[in-house]
Order: sequence, then structure tokens, then C-alpha cells
Amino acid sequence: MFMEISEIVSKQKEFFSTHQTKNIRFRKMYLEKLKALLISNEKLLYEAIKQDFGKSEFDTFTTEISFVINDINYYLKNLKSLSRPKKVSTNLINQIGKSIVFPEPLGNVLVIGAWNYPYQLSLSPVVAALAAGNCCIVKPSEIAENTMKAITTIINENFPPEYLYSYEGGVEETTELLKLRFDKIFFTGSTKVGKIVYEAASKNLTPVTLELGGKSPAIVTKDANLEVAAKRIVWGKFLNAGQTCVAPDYLLIEETVKEQFLETLTKYIKTFNYQAGSGHYTKIINLKNFDRLIALIDAEKVYSGGSYDHEKLFIEPTVLSNISWTDKIMQEEIFGPLLPVISFTNYNIIINQICELEKPLAAYLFTNNSEEKEIFKNKLSFGGGCINDVMMHLGNENLPFGGVGNSGIGNYHGKFGFETFSHQKAILEKATWGEPDIKYPPYSEKKLGWIRKIINF
Ligand code: NAD
Repeated sequence: MFMEISEIVSKQKEFFSTHQTKNIRFRKMYLEKLKALLISNEKLLYEAIKQDFGKSEFDTFTTEISFVINDINYYLKNLKSLSRPKKVSTNLINQIGKSIVFPEPLGNVLVIGAWNYPYQLSLSPVVAALAAGNCCIVKPSEIAENTMKAITTIINENFPPEYLYSYEGGVEETTELLKLRFDKIFFTGSTKVGKIVYEAASKNLTPVTLELGGKSPAIVTKDANLEVAAKRIVWGKFLNAGQTCVAPDYLLIEETVKEQFLETLTKYIKTFNYQAGSGHYTKIINLKNFDRLIALIDAEKVYSGGSYDHEKLFIEPTVLSNISWTDKIMQEEIFGPLLPVISFTNYNIIINQICELEKPLAAYLFTNNSEEKEIFKNKLSFGGGCINDVMMHLGNENLPFGGVGNSGIGNYHGKFGFETFSHQKAILEKATWGEPDIKYPPYSEKKLGWIRKIINF
């Protein structure tokens, strides 16, 4: 039966108002159902993403399916305690009473996903939204068309549309969708489109979470374990052919260890054997992005790599050295397998220079020097990051994941995801006896004196 999207949104509002989604057993039942569907459709999910950009089963399992399953397991285990009203202390002026923070679902929410980790980025927010007791419409990215279709098949054939529905569409359909009223919009994608979503949401005062991008630096100082740093940076940069929002975008290397470090980097690029069609290296998603990336390669600055294949949409892992801040490649998020390298001689100066740029989604520091670690933590503002690793902070559900400034608003994962899709309702319950008279008229100097004393003024 065909239904207009506006009709589905209305049905979700209606269904939410029956309060069924607030029942913990109801939420768990559907989370279990989604988990079972992901497991039974594993092959379909692998096949679709392979067709979209050649992603291997290994990468799809470790960076997508296992992520979503892990989220579901987390909520199945913690849902009761997350949804429980939390008693907090009550101050003197509110005695005799008790105070409660009461988490409640927001209502009908919209999740808009990006294409680069299509399962994780569309379904992890959906899992958090359902765990928190909402109805949800998910709009996967049309750029990864086959994965979008796989998500739609799994959801729309198995869930009631008034509870969870996958809506397919590109810019035109999403523009129309954003005209409808939601109780929350969770968007993952570029900063440019994030602003469009924010503006549309403001018309209805709809709260948003914006998971955006940016240029995330990796800094390597002379006090780093260079072998470990090179191995981890190569892995993080070239996973998914660099099409990862938290990938190290560019490398800042201390001048005295530059040559040694670049040699170690290229050693690992060779060891990891990134070939077109290999099981662990993907192609560029489409010609538009391929052409954009090729235009960023300055042949005179190629240190290693630099070749590409138009037909296969393949770009070799490429390291570009002697880059300066004004080079074209430093003006936008790269989102591909190109690693520009800038060297520095003074750690404090380079930190100050990063502080002048837009706040990145991630930042990485490789060093064993505790003073450098402290400066990194205290001076740099970024969404999240690692010391002596890259990207792995995402793998800890006890850490919030999200940006700051231009790289995003809000966060999710674990309890943070639950809170993102909840309203924390404050309730003060008073006894109907034992109340002092001081707040009621007629006022007097004596009453004011007591109030001043109580609030320590
Ligand atoms: P995008 O902004 O082009 O698209 C994201 C979503 O917005 C898609 O579903 C798309 O259909 C929709 N969209 C596109 N144009 C629109 C418009 N004009 N109006 C309404 N909706 C529109 O991003 P992308 O190319 O899918 O992803 C790449 C970007 O996303 C990069 O900047 C990357 O850093 C960022 N990203 C961020 C995260 C994160 O978790 N913070 C994760 C992945 C990607």
C-alpha cells in the first residue's frame, strides 16, 4: 500500500501518542528484531555495499554491522537503567519535597544518513532513537544506492511504518521531507548541508544533532614512537580509501624526524598492499568525488603514490610533502586517500596555528612527552580524538561521539545516544504539609532576611 511521506509522519505522530513506544518491553522487542534482521540479512548487506564502492566483508563487518549490533546489545543491556527516572537531591527552599529527572522520548524523529559508512551512520542513530522510545523515519544517502535499497527492504518489509520507516530520496525529496514537522532531526553529512538542515529545522524549533566533517589533523612529534604512529596513521587514513569523517585529514610532522617518518609511512603503505579490487581498499564513491580528488594532487609535491585509474575510480594512497597552509588541498576536507604533510619546528606554534582554524571533528597526537599531551588536551578544541592512535575513540561506547563548532552540534553513542533522543523532564514533587510561610505575601524584611540566609547571599 503506497503512502505519502507526509501521511507516514502523521501516522508516526498518532502512534507515538498511544504511548506504546514508552514501554521498555516494546522497545526491546523491536531492537531484538532489528538485530535478528541484520544477522539474517548479513550477505545482502555485504553484497549491496560491495556494489556501491567495493567495500570488503571484513571492513563492512568491523566498521558497520558490528557497530550497529554492539549498539543494540548496549541498549538491550542498559535500557532499564537509562530510562529509569533519577532521583536528585532537593535544596532547602524546596523542602519538603523530592526531585526527579524523568527521561522521556521526544516523539517522531528524522535520521538523515551519509553514504560513506551507510549502515553505521543510518542505523546507529535509529537504534538510539528507538531505544529512547521514539518513532523514526530514516533517510539513508542516495549516493550509496544499493545500501540505501538494502536498508529500505529490511526496514519497510519488517517494521510497521507508523513506528519505523525508511524513506528513499535525494536532494529534492529531502528538501520536501524537511518541510514536515519532526520532534528531532539527527543529520550526518557535510557542514554545507548541515546548515541547510539547521535552517529548515529552525522553522519548527526542532532540535537538531548535526554530525558533520572538517579537517582533522594528526600531529607527530620527535618524541613519538614513529613505527607505531606510521602504522596507525596509514591504517586510519586509507581505510575506506580515506572516505571517513574522522580520518586524519593532514599530517603535521616535526622537522627533525620528517624523513624517517615519511619512509616509515611508505613502508606501511607498501606492506598493507592497497590495490584496486583488493579485499581491503575501496574505490572512490563516484566520478564527481574522483575528479575533485584528482584536482587536489599537485604532481610536484607527490612523495609517494599519485597514480589513479579513471575507469575503476581507484586512487593510489598518496603522500604529498612540502605542503603549505595556503595550498589548495589545505582549504577543504579531503575525504579521500591523499595525505598532505606539513613540517614544523615548534610544537606550541603549530598548536596555535590549528587553534586559528575551524574546530575539527577529530584530532590525533603521537608523542610520549607528557607536556605535549597536556597542551594538546587543554589548548585544542575538537570533537574527539586520540593520543597515540587514530579513530579508535569511536569504538568505545562510553565516549560521546560528535563535533564542535563547524564540525557539529551534539553527540551520540551509548548513553549519549539515548540522551540525544530524550528530553530530561524535571519534576519536583512536594509534600502538602510542613511548608514555611516565607515565600508568600505579605512580604517583610524578616522574610527577605531568611531567604538571603537560605541562599547564602
Ligand atoms: P552530504 O552532506 O552531501 O549528504 C548527507 C545527506 O544529506 C544525504 O542523505 C543527502 O541525501 C542529504 N542531502 C544532500 N544535499 C542536500 C540538500 N541540499 N538538502 C537536503 N538534504 C541534502 O554528505 P555526504 O557526501 O553523504 O558525506 C560526506 C560528508 O559527511 C563529509 O563532510 C564527512 O566528513 C561528513 N560525515 C560526517 C560524519 C560524522 O559522523 N560526523 C560521518 C560521515 C560523514
